[in-house]
Formats: sequence, C-alpha cells, structure tokens
Amino acid sequence: MSSVRNETPFHALTAEQVLERLQTTAAGLDAAEAARRRQQYGPNRLPEPPQRHPLLRFLAHFHNVLIYVLLGAAVVTALLAHWVDTGVILAVVVINAVIGFIQEGRAEQAMAAIRDMLAPRAAVLRDGHRQSLDAAELVPGDIVLVEAGDRVPADLRLLEARGLKVEEAILTGESVPVDKSVAPCPEDAALGDRSAMLFSGTLVVAGTGRAVVVATGANTEIGRISGMLSRVETLTTPLVQQMDSFARWLSAFILLVAASLLLYGYFIRHLPFGELFMVAVGLSVAAIPEGLPAVLTITLAVGVQAMARRNAIVRRLPAIETLGSVSVICSDKTGTLTRNEMVATALAAAGEVYAVEGDGYAPEGTVWLGQAPVRAIEDPVLIEAARATALCNDAALYQAGDGWRAEGDPMEAALLALAGKLTGEGPQPCAEWTRTDAIPFDSAHRYMAVLVHDHEGHARIYVKGAPEAVLALCADQLGAGAEPVPLDPGHWHAQVEQLAGAGQRVLALAMRAVPQEHTVLNTADLDGRLTLIGLVGLIDPPRPEAIEAVAECHAAGIRVKMITGDHAATARAIAAQIGLRNSERVLTGNDLETLDDAALADAAVETDVFARTSPEHKLRLVTALQARGLTVAMTGDGVNDAPALKRADAGIAMGQRGSEAAKEAADLVLADDNFASIAAAVREGRTVYDNIKKVISWTLPTNGGEAGTLLLALLAGLALPITPLQILWVNLITAVTLGLALAFEPTEPGTMRRPPRPRHEPLLTGQLVWQIVLTTALVVAAVFGIYSYATDRGHSEALAQTMALNTLVVLEIFYLFFIRRMHSTSLTWAAVRATPVMWGCLLAVTAAQFAITYLAPLQGVFGTTAIPFWDGVLIVAVGAVFFALVEVEKQMRLALSGRNDRRAS
Ligand code: ATP
Repeated sequence: MSSVRNETPFHALTAEQVLERLQTTAAGLDAAEAARRRQQYGPNRLPEPPQRHPLLRFLAHFHNVLIYVLLGAAVVTALLAHWVDTGVILAVVVINAVIGFIQEGRAEQAMAAIRDMLAPRAAVLRDGHRQSLDAAELVPGDIVLVEAGDRVPADLRLLEARGLKVEEAILTGESVPVDKSVAPCPEDAALGDRSAMLFSGTLVVAGTGRAVVVATGANTEIGRISGMLSRVETLTTPLVQQMDSFARWLSAFILLVAASLLLYGYFIRHLPFGELFMVAVGLSVAAIPEGLPAVLTITLAVGVQAMARRNAIVRRLPAIETLGSVSVICSDKTGTLTRNEMVATALAAAGEVYAVEGDGYAPEGTVWLGQAPVRAIEDPVLIEAARATALCNDAALYQAGDGWRAEGDPMEAALLALAGKLTGEGPQPCAEWTRTDAIPFDSAHRYMAVLVHDHEGHARIYVKGAPEAVLALCADQLGAGAEPVPLDPGHWHAQVEQLAGAGQRVLALAMRAVPQEHTVLNTADLDGRLTLIGLVGLIDPPRPEAIEAVAECHAAGIRVKMITGDHAATARAIAAQIGLRNSERVLTGNDLETLDDAALADAAVETDVFARTSPEHKLRLVTALQARGLTVAMTGDGVNDAPALKRADAGIAMGQRGSEAAKEAADLVLADDNFASIAAAVREGRTVYDNIKKVISWTLPTNGGEAGTLLLALLAGLALPITPLQILWVNLITAVTLGLALAFEPTEPGTMRRPPRPRHEPLLTGQLVWQIVLTTALVVAAVFGIYSYATDRGHSEALAQTMALNTLVVLEIFYLFFIRRMHSTSLTWAAVRATPVMWGCLLAVTAAQFAITYLAPLQGVFGTTAIPFWDGVLIVAVGAVFFALVEVEKQMRLALSGRNDRRAS
C-alpha cells in the first residue's frame, strides 16, 4: 500500500514519493510491465478530432459558385423541357463533386501519412537501457530523458534537472521560458508555477533533465484542453489560392460574356430564346475551368506523396513551390553531407600519436603506438583519456544481431568505443565512477563537462569539446607520467591542423582533480583550471549519394554551401571531398563577426564553406543571401536553429538528428537526414510547379477552344459546328480525365539541368498567354475547317457536327501529349510512351468518343451519326498537323530562349 496520499498532486510530492506512487524506479520499467501499462492506459496520443460525416463532406462540394451557375442552368433547361441538356449538366455537376470528394480524400490521406512520419520520439529508460521510442508508446512510470530542443512527450515529474528551461506558451500563454527544478512545489501552485513538472507539448529550450511520466494521452494537461490541437492543415498554397481566385474572376467574366451574348442574340439577332440559352450555357460550361482547383489540389497531393517517398516530408505546403525555385542550399555537414557514423582513429597525448583500430562502434580493438599494442592499464595518461571519453559521454553501446549499435550522439558512441578499446572493459568502461553533475554540450560554448566520483573518495572533472574551447580552459597538460607540465598551445594547434586537414573531426580532452566534497559543477570550476589530456581524431566519411546530389544541384544552377560548427580545416577537407565549388576559401564564425552587413552579403555569396559557426551566424547568412535576391534553403537541427529555419525561404530540419523545435520551425523535414533528399525535394518541387503549369496550360486553351467555337459561330452568324449539348459532353468527358492525367506527370527530363525559376515569376507568363491564344485559335480554326470541309462534301449537318466534335477531342488529346514536355521535345519515345494514368485516361476518352459516335442510343440523344473510316483518318491527321504546328512553334521558342534541352533526353 502506498504511503503517499493519493490525492496529493505529483508536483507537491518528492521525487521518491512520485516513483513510489507510480510503482517504478529510477532505472525505468521493464518491457513486460510497460506492455501491461500500455494495455491499461492506451497509447500516449491525443484523441483524434471527430471527422465530418462523409455525406456532409460530399455535399460540401456543391457549395461553390461555379456549381451554382451550373445548377441554375439545369433548372432553366428543365423549365424549357430540354431534358437531355438538364441531364448532361447535372452529370457535369455530380462528376465534379465526386472528383472533388475523391481528391479531398486523397489529400487527407497524404497529410495523414505525413503526420505519422513526423510522430515525435522520446528517449526512455526501459530494462535499464536508454532507448528511443515512438512517444505514443510512453506509459505512466516510464523514465524519460529530455534535452534542449525536445517537445515534452507526456506530463512528467522531474527527477533530475540541469539548467532546464521550458517554454510553456502552448499551455500558459507565457512565452518567456521558465526554470525547472526537482524541488516539490506548493500543492496549490498554478500550472505555470509547477516548476517540478514538465507538461506534454511544451518545449525544452535549454538544459537536460530526467523525469518520470505521470500522465499520458488525454490525461495530460494539454489533453484536457480539448480541441486545441485539432486544427487540420488544408491542402493549399499561395499559387493554388491565386489560381482559385483567378478561376472565380474568369467565371464572372465568362458569365458576363454569356449574358451579353444572350442579350445580343435575342434583341439584335432575334434568335429563339431556348436555343440561345443553350448556347450561353454551353459557352459558360465550356469556358469555366470548373475542374481546375480540384486538379491543382491533386497535383499538390501527388507532389507531397512523391516527396515523402523520397524522405522529404513537407510540413508547410507552400514550401513545395518555393523548393522549385531554390537557388542556394545551405547545408550543415555532420550527418547531412557526411554519414555521421564516426570512428575514432587517432589519439594524441603526452607527445605521442596512437592509432586506433576497430570496426564501427565495437568497443573492442587494438590501440597501437607505432608497431606496439598499448593498454590503458599500463599508462596513466591513457587511463585519463579513457575516463574522459567514457564518462563525459551520454551515449550507450549495445550488441544487436551481428554488430554493435549506438544509442545517442554517434560521436559520443565512437568515443565510448575508444574507451572500451583502451580499457578492454567492453561497452561500459570506467563503471566504478558515477556522475554527480554535468554541464551539457551547447554549440555556444562547444564543450561538455562532467563531475564524477568513485567509491574511494576521489572526485574528478572531465571535459571534452572543440580544441580551441577546451584549450582556452586549460592551465597545463599531462606529461608522459601523467604529471602536469606547462601547456604548449603551439604544439596542440599544429596537431589539430594536421588531424583536421585530413578531414578528421578533432576533439580535445581535459581533466581536473577536485576534493570529494565537490558535488556541484559550475563553469567557474573549469576556467583556466583544467589539465589537457590530449586530442582524439574521428573520421566521418562523406555520403557517396551526397557527392552525387551536390553535382546534380550544381548542374541545376543551385549553389551549395556548407555551414558547420566544425573546425575550419576539417570543413575544408570534407568540402573538397564532397565537391563543393569553392572549398579552399573558408570563413569562420569569428571572421563573419568582423563583417558589416554589406560585406557579409558579398562574402556569403562568394564563399561556400563556413566553419565554427553558431546558429546566429546561420541567421545572418540567410538574411545576407536573401538580400542578394537568392532563394535560400537552409538546414538545421538544434533548438537554436529555429530562427534561421524560419527565416529561410525553405527551412529544412533533420528528422532523425533534429530537435522537435527545429522540426516545428521547418517547412520540410528530412526523414533520413541526407543531403541527397534535399536535391530530390528540389527536383520534386520543380516537377510539381511544372505540373501545375501543365495543368493550366492544358485547361485554359482547351476550354478556350471549346468556348471560342460557339462564340465565333454566334457572333459571325455562322451555323454551329458543334451543338451546345455536344460541347457539354466534351467538357464532361475530357475536363476531369485528360486534365487530371497531368497531375501525375513524372519529372520531365532535364529538369535538374535548368537554372532555378525566378522566385517571383508569375504563373501566367507572357509566353503562356501567347500559347493559350495560339492554341485557342488553332483549335477554333481546325473545328471550323473540318465542319466546312464536311458540309462542302455534301455531308449531312449531323455528320459534319459529329466530325467537328471528334476533331475537338482529338486535338485535346494531341495537345495533352504536347504539353507533357514543356521544356524539351515531345518527339521522343519516352514522351510518347507516357504514363499508365495518361493511357488510362486516353482509353476512357477514346471509348467514350466511339460510343457517342457509333452507338445508336447516344446518337439519338446527342444528334451524332457514324463517321466513315476515311473521314475518321482525316480527323486524326488534322490532330497530327496541329501537333506538328505547336511543336515547331515550341522548338523555335526554346531555340530562341537558349534553353533547348534536347541534350537532356
Ligand atoms: P554541423 O554543424 O555540420 O552539424 P557540428 O556537429 O560540428 O557540425 P556543432 O554540433 O555545433 O556542429 O559542434 C561544434 C563543435 O563542438 C564540434 O566540432 C565539436 O568540436 C564540439 N562538439 C560537438 N558535439 C559535442 C559533444 N557532444 N561534446 C563535446 N563537444 C562537442
């Protein structure tokens, strides 16, 4: 029976009482108990907001101005007893709603899949081991480790806190971070004053902590504020909104034209109202791009899914458009351009350089001094080196299957493996020492320090960090017999340059013996009072796929810049291996600080490698590059990277290494932390933009052609080559099939050999407008041409109209194949082979055309008649000539713009 009163809130209990109440220990739950509690408490997830009923969602698609217009037309045609027309108009309306409904489902699926991919993870102690789990798996009683940048995964009671500061705005509205500590709080403390608690959903901005889960899922404080997180991301971007509003204004314009036509025809030409009204309706339905917004949304959804398949998770949809116009990518080094699989290969101490042998994270292998193997037990300097690497370390090594795996920072894991090799004590070396206090690593001071005690009354401080940072704290260094001797900074700097020049990451180790009573570690304990032990060199090879991706970016006119916290010489060596353009010239954070904004902008454009930078430098660099008109993608992982990520045109966070804070600030999250995924995302971004453009380039001229035919006939007082009803049919079968096929277009060849699109280039460029006008004119000419040819040959009115109708559809199909290649020739096998979606749509439309032309019931309804074989061939030939004309025009244009990408295919 618990000795603690059950009503006492967790924040008012001591850490021990909390553990007792939750029946757990500081070492965490075991797997069996965790599984039992998971059954009992369910997943640590907030309940999903209730979904709207599918029927309501379907009906919502009728709430649209365009649909109202069509419904109005259906009512009038019904009043005029034109039943067939009414039926076709209603079919258009229903098909549109169905397509809208399906695309919404698809878009929602895409977003839901992405939400799952972004599921937060938590570092948990289970079975005494640190593990990284999906935060949904947490149960009350779990012990969780948190650090700066984490979103708190559940409601937690602190057991240990070091410099912990948490931003609780999501709960309390207070955006100033509050300090957290272990001491119990008064029972009646308000939420914002419960300093011993961490609340689910709040953000750790500094320090580290260890805490026990007290509430999960809907039982957390955030879970009680229901509805707070139920906002749904809608699938739209500025571009799509722009098109949406364009489509609305276009509709208004078309309705005005149709109304004027109605008045003109009725009052001036004295045509019968019923017929005239049908022409006006046909014109409106043909010209209004009612399917466009839905198709554009599908294009985006397809793009989101394509990016997710390539490990790039889009958090903010407008990023898809921005990515296509990125002209500079600023990437960090470790883990993005390199593998982040570190291995310690060299140890420099007491005037010697040791070579370290071994494979991966295995804590076994030999350390050599020249030809002789060495053991720490024989050398007091090596003992100190082993302790510094093993104890100033938060990583863990474990054996899984046939190899050794690491939990935590890969560099620390590599250092732990080194300590294992030095001591021969396997994955947990120097276990007789326990940590009493620590100063966590921070990229601002670039070191980590621990205070450790053993059971024989000894206490030591061990420090590891960037060599400049650690050397600045040292007063002396260890001599051959582990006695302190005067510090020789010149020797160490030369040693650093040598190791770093080979692309190794270099870390310095230092120590200090302190009295046993010393139990709290402050920075004042380090300042100028440490003894340098030596340096460790670690290799972290470049990712081969990053080398290829950098080359691809260069070909695509995108500059790649490396902004790293690492040493200049290491950065230079890795930059050369990766193939960065200007790898010899390196600017460091200190250099940047001496520059004013104008000089910085010049330097930022010219330099490709920046070393020893801090997050503030990243922010300045993004701003400087943007000031020069560049569209900047910037990567980041730490909590302090958030401002730079927000500022960048495309902020990219690392999915594995990145903090939750960075992920939330980013537009894009890389599931695999790999630079190659950025290049893939840019390619997809360009593809989506192209496809949006293709959908528009197909829709507007084909609509124009359909409407133009009716308009011209009426204005010029000619016979209608296609009846309004037939126009409705064309619209019904092509608009949602052929146009939609373009949403699924794969990347056009040569896409990554074009320079980036200017950021503010309008969608409707002069060239696109010209193309719309030209195509509309050609379509109208072809339709009238075929019609007059048929009447000239003495064909019946019905046959002439059927031929004109089929010509219209054939032209739309040819135009579809033409538009697939906007930047290169359409006359390649790949271009003609097209996609399964394309052929599926094509077959459907062809079958429908055969049906309306040759099936008696449809002939009766639509006033069509069978086309003789050779006239059918003629229609296809007209299509081919049309294709040739637009293709030649495109080639001339491409040749003039110097962008003929024929070499691309
Ligand atoms: P990148 O920015 O490319 O990821 P980085 O990982 O080197 O590079 P930071 O994390 O800012 O950037 O690290 C800066 C320096 O701080 C490192 O070069 C290293 O010398 C030191 N350092 C990194 N991690 C630790 C750590 N856990 N403990 C001590 N020192 C560290």
